[in-house]
Amino acid sequence: MKRILLWFRNDLRLHDNPALRAACAQADEVIAYYCFDSQYFGDKKSAFPRIGARRTQFILESLQDLKESLAFLNIPLQISIGTPKDGIQALHQNFPIDAVFYSEEFAYEEIRQTEALKSLTIPLRSFVSNQLFELAELPFPLYKLPRGFTTFRKKLEAAISPAAAFPPPPAPQSISPVHSTPLPSLIALGLRPDAIDERAALKPRGGEKEGLKRLKAYLFGSQNISQYKETRNGMIGPDYSSKFSFWLANGSLSPRKIYQEIKSYEVQFGANESTYWLYFELLWREFFRLNAAKKGANFFQMPLAYHSSVDAQFEKWRQGKTGHPFIDANMRELALTGFMSNRGRQNVASYLINNLKGDWRLGAAWFESALIDYDVYSNYGNWTYLAGNGNDPRGQRSFNIDSQQERYDPKGDYVNLWLNF
Ligand SMILES: Cc1cc2nc3c(=O)[nH]c(=O)nc-3n(C[C@H](O)[C@H](O)[C@H](O)COP(=O)(O)OP(=O)(O)OC[C@H]3O[C@@H](n4cnc5c(N)ncnc54)[C@H](O)[C@@H]3O)c2cc1C
Repeated sequence: MKRILLWFRNDLRLHDNPALRAACAQADEVIAYYCFDSQYFGDKKSAFPRIGARRTQFILESLQDLKESLAFLNIPLQISIGTPKDGIQALHQNFPIDAVFYSEEFAYEEIRQTEALKSLTIPLRSFVSNQLFELAELPFPLYKLPRGFTTFRKKLEAAISPAAAFPPPPAPQSISPVHSTPLPSLIALGLRPDAIDERAALKPRGGEKEGLKRLKAYLFGSQNISQYKETRNGMIGPDYSSKFSFWLANGSLSPRKIYQEIKSYEVQFGANESTYWLYFELLWREFFRLNAAKKGANFFQMPLAYHSSVDAQFEKWRQGKTGHPFIDANMRELALTGFMSNRGRQNVASYLINNLKGDWRLGAAWFESALIDYDVYSNYGNWTYLAGNGNDPRGQRSFNIDSQQERYDPKGDYVNLWLNF
């Protein structure tokens, strides 16, 4: 009798989940496990938490959905607060585990989580999920990943396309004697509920089913994908861009599934520059992930006391009180909803770095706290890119905020929405 523990991380889905598929195929019994790592929760000393209430709420909704879906496969979901190592060890003591399967992550803290598991003497097996390509599929070894995005994209596009996403696996043979644990409350995680403002571009609900619903709606429902390239720099409402980032961030949606649906949309309704451009943007996401995979623990490490250098100027930026309407409108949208458009993110980051001469790491830390769609690779990748420490061959990027405002909010609708209501 073989019992596999499946440690869920940012892969909260049944579809296109290689670790789940392998566990169901190889084990008689599967136990699913998720850990709210206490290094991210309960810090009362900092100006803002590592993970804010809205993202935590979104994760809780995603876990509820996952738990319900796993029940159809007779797989219980165990949840703990603490460290993954302690949680897995405690389970192992009561229900001896033959192996731990999990999806690989490439950033510093995530690498430390998996390193810690090695002392448990349980066989570990990792899988690459949450990206368009397996590392072995790439047309170059990882250490030769091109430094610039354009070279990366061209090499990739000349050689490969993403494999098809696979459906949820059949249930393992045996029903586990382990019961699912109830989800913790926000309060138990040291957070107070924080509603999403009514003006939000979208009020997302967490979970695989909701992610798949949004995918269907943006493609086959509204067919907004056919105008994506023209609308993607918009700033108001649900449909100027896909909003897939919410579900991609914790893996409720797989990028290969998105690619597959884009392809079937193109067969039905025709391909154009816009349908391609959504894939192009997913390649940006892939690029930042692979950069982290290449650099390992050197990708980025936040200094330990990273909140301690918060000063009055940074606080004005964070709270949307700089006096620049375009910056303040975007920062208030972020603080009140947990989302900001890509156009907004570029501008507020440039403003902090170039106009205020602030510490970009603090800006990135605030994004990490406030964004529902926070993703370690895309967030720190984009911030380092704009700060000139990353992969932009042109060095530091500076935006002229006034002309950006004129171009992207010519009638002032966006600024009015966030500053004058
Ligand atoms: C300073 C800064 C910080 C950012 N932090 C994050 C983050 O924490 N999490 C996150 O998912 N994205 C981040 N982005 C990238 C981008 O802003 C968001 O992915 C996008 O706004 C999400 O909205 P959408 O899903 O509607 O995007 P769409 O325009 O519909 O794009 C589709 C998908 O492509 C990917 N994508 C698009 N633009 C980028 C990009 N510049 N970099 C990487 N992937 C991209 C995302 O997965 C996105 O969901 C950041 C950008 C900047 C400039």
